[in-house]
Amino acid sequence: MPVVVAKDTCIGCGACVGVCPVGALSLDADGKAECDESICIDCLACIGVCPTEAISQK
Ligand code: SF4
Ligand code: SF4
Repeated sequence: MPVVVAKDTCIGCGACVGVCPVGALSLDADGKAECDESICIDCLACIGVCPTEAISQK
């Protein structure tokens, strides 16, 4: 399953955006990460780099 970002926990550091191998993550207009579920390959790399544990599996 694709990952989901808890917007209230995300601090917009961009670490997940940089580590995603397929470019599924980006920062939205509020500076919070969001995952494009049509691109995500469920590698879970982003979960490991998030400093606030804002990313989880759906
Ligand atoms: S699980 Fe992998 S492919 Fe999906 S958003 Fe995270 S880093 Fe990108
Ligand atoms: S790594 Fe975590 S805190 Fe940083 S932008 Fe991604 S979801 Fe937000």
